[in-house]
Amino acid sequence: MPFRDTIGHRQLVRLLSRSIAAGSLPPSLIFSGPEGVGKKRTALALAQALNCSRSVVSGQWPVASGWGSVVRGQGPGETGDELPIDACGECPACRRIARNAYPDVFLVQPEDSASIKIEQIRDVIAQTAYRPFEGRRRVVIIDEADAMGADAQDALLKSLEEPPPHSVFVLVSAHADVLAPTVRSRCPRLRFGRLNPAEIARALARDHGYTEEESRLAAALAGGSLGRALEAAAGGLDDVRAAACRALRQVAEAADSRGRLEGARGLTGARGAGSTTAADREQLAARVTALLALVRDLAILSSRAHGGAVANLDLTSELEGLSRLYDRDRIVRAFTAADRALRALGRNASPKIVADWLALQL
Ligand SMILES: [Zn+2]
Repeated sequence: MPFRDTIGHRQLVRLLSRSIAAGSLPPSLIFSGPEGVGKKRTALALAQALNCSRSVVSGQWPVASGWGSVVRGQGPGETGDELPIDACGECPACRRIARNAYPDVFLVQPEDSASIKIEQIRDVIAQTAYRPFEGRRRVVIIDEADAMGADAQDALLKSLEEPPPHSVFVLVSAHADVLAPTVRSRCPRLRFGRLNPAEIARALARDHGYTEEESRLAAALAGGSLGRALEAAAGGLDDVRAAACRALRQVAEAADSRGRLEGARGLTGARGAGSTTAADREQLAARVTALLALVRDLAILSSRAHGGAVANLDLTSELEGLSRLYDRDRIVRAFTAADRALRALGRNASPKIVADWLALQL
């Protein structure tokens, strides 16, 4: 899928395209950001743009001028889409890259053991010693790069320090801070942000055959991650929404703050207290995102003006029950608090502290 068809991240995509055109693309990069927002897809689009038989790449390879160590994606709403270089998406090179069947584009991923082994890294480095077979640039994409152990990262380090000519390394990771400092310091980082619901809904309708209503609901609950929207569709979404519904009800019906904190347990899950892994944070973020979507629906129902825009249409009876507990003021408070809770989780706050705080605010 060429740059122009990727969802969101327009500023990052433009930067990549311009850098290829100017011959200033760094030979090693980190694509960091939440799961399921299109980092790997963008890396493949980069590989296509570098090797498409119909795109023209100018400039000498590679002078990393003008790149800071960290590049952040802009939020939604930005405009302007000029891409000096893009793949056609149709030629044999583009098609084979999309199928992971192109000899000069390597996709390294964790194997069964859920880790990327040093042998995988050694194999791919051995390949980069030669000129590309067919393409102009060899592209090594290491997906879930944080799954590399210390030895695998060490093995990669020399290639990042002195990249083989004609090669570019892209390390894709939702947990880039876990990578060794030596690796991070050699790779400028592109930070991918979350997608907005409209972008997700568009992708679900365009690429996954969702109806308008299905895509709106899934997008509202996806927390900015297309991957999460698709996972939710495969199962689990109902559980997340049920947990959020229960917590909203329990907190509102609680007689005192102890009862409210009980409601917070329903958001953090069984492992609850003191648990601070990334997975716990993700789980809480999913539930708070579902809670936010429910509160948004309560706001819509309370105004009675736009009944059709309710995201959780299939939960109408639960929403009506909740609407007796949440008046306008409380809805506004809940909305603000849930939004702040999500931001705090994005800054790696403790799930327990965030859930307790949220339960007391609702
Ligand atoms: Zn092409």
